[in-house]
Amino acid sequence: MRGKADSDLVRRQNRMLVLETLRFHGPSARVDIGRLTGLSPATITTITLQLLQEGAIVERADLAATAGEGRRGRPVVSLGLNAEAAFLIAIKISIGTLEYALADYAGQIRARANVTVPTRRLSAQDFSKRLVFETQKFVRDNVITRNQLAQINVAAQGVTDNVNGAVGWSPAFRVSGVAITGPLADAFGVPCTLANDANMIAEGLIARKAVATHGTTACVFMGYGIGMGLVIDGAVYHGTSGSSGEFGHMNHIPSGALCRCGRRGCLEAYASDYGILRSAENLPDDTPCPTHAVEPEVMIALENAARRGDQNAVAAFKTAGAAIGLGLARMIALLNPDRIVLSGAGTRALDLIEPAIREAIELSVAEPLRQNLVIETLPIDRDMIIDGTIDAALRQMDAGLYATTQAMAAE
Ligand SMILES: [Zn+2]
Repeated sequence: MRGKADSDLVRRQNRMLVLETLRFHGPSARVDIGRLTGLSPATITTITLQLLQEGAIVERADLAATAGEGRRGRPVVSLGLNAEAAFLIAIKISIGTLEYALADYAGQIRARANVTVPTRRLSAQDFSKRLVFETQKFVRDNVITRNQLAQINVAAQGVTDNVNGAVGWSPAFRVSGVAITGPLADAFGVPCTLANDANMIAEGLIARKAVATHGTTACVFMGYGIGMGLVIDGAVYHGTSGSSGEFGHMNHIPSGALCRCGRRGCLEAYASDYGILRSAENLPDDTPCPTHAVEPEVMIALENAARRGDQNAVAAFKTAGAAIGLGLARMIALLNPDRIVLSGAGTRALDLIEPAIREAIELSVAEPLRQNLVIETLPIDRDMIIDGTIDAALRQMDAGLYATTQAMAAE
């Protein structure tokens, strides 16, 4: 039945394409969906009819007046995502905090909550229980019924095991192997996924078309930790178990400075906030790492000191840049990316860090490998982790909830 399987795949891909187009461009007339997707009018008619019947999209006659020049005065019906079709919850786990967002199917955030939880004081079991408890409370507070909730996606700092839905190692916990998706799925009966937070930043960039749909882009997150999301041909590359792009914990100097993960010499131990601060203060390499992020004011003061010429501060930022640059050089040699996007609060000090990043890359990567490489900075003024987690959940809902189950039911 090869032919049938192929046509099912094409139909699912076309459905995804239509949903994705409506996600990015907002409500659109059928003719515009056809133009944007390249699908034939007949295909658009079939797909949109099915999506309308399923309740995934709605007709928006009220938008007819804004449908564009040349069609003014003619009634044009736009199609848009049905915001009420389903709801999802995005959860960000970081040191001492659970951050919640409730989003509708159109991707609008309907509610948020921040809950203080002593993550580092709880056992793995107690954290799992607390996570379920706080999520149940968030659902109750926002009056969502079980039927309305379609998906829960969780992003966590550290090494995440996406297959088993557990956090392997994270600065948020003292313990390892913290079960996340199992307890949530048991409690809510909806698909739950876990991913690394830096990978979710990359998801957010993809959804906003900040990352090309072709080629290889490395999205580097600089700040309280150092992370990376690898985007290959428009999709985040997660690796076998979800831990790919563990850039911050690549070894920089064997047996070097103590890292928050407990090992020595990781790139992060030199390039994260605490690593930079430790070198600026000339503290020994084995100085224990702080369990909380360094206060932004402390880093801003250090950056200003470097800009005023404080030699210790200047050297610390250079050391950070060299560590990141050398790490990137290894990644470039392996993956031959066409773009590197630097983001996160750490980019505030880019004037102090970037020359050393570029110098390290130039010294250690053969010219032909880097001649077309673009390195750019994306100033992030909002929490892309929650945004990207919502984007990833919506994509999974488009692919699974609607495309798979409904297409199967329609057989
Ligand atoms: Zn480490």
